[in-house]
Amino acid sequence: MLDILCNLLGAAFLLPLGMALGSFFEVVLDRVPRGESLLWPPSHCRTCNHRLTVDELVPVISYLAQHGRCRACDTPIGRGVPIREALSGLALALPWALVGCAHPLGSLVAGLVVLLAIWIAQGVRQARRPAAG
Ligand SMILES: [Zn+2]
Repeated sequence: MLDILCNLLGAAFLLPLGMALGSFFEVVLDRVPRGESLLWPPSHCRTCNHRLTVDELVPVISYLAQHGRCRACDTPIGRGVPIREALSGLALALPWALVGCAHPLGSLVAGLVVLLAIWIAQGVRQARRPAAG
């Protein structure tokens, strides 16, 4: 019983952490190929340059709350963004939810391996896409 509780508490912590890492990887894959800084300018809409507020930066939840659109200009946000953020959260949380307290190191390593696999696959997929313009 205590193990189940321990597993669920750990997963509840790792889910948002994984989603936050996914959100960061999203920024990396968006900006690095363009030669842009990861830090400046702060997160913004590529269409209207609206600077995202704190409540627009919550992985997955902000997308759902805004119905997948920029709050300022109504430009659709790709569905892949919240999907990859959610998958990143699940990648980190699921191994822990299953066996985390019995095998903490193995769960974390398994979660990180899946997380990196998701982002390497996305990076390769993005690199193969023809450059716009
Ligand atoms: Zn916009």
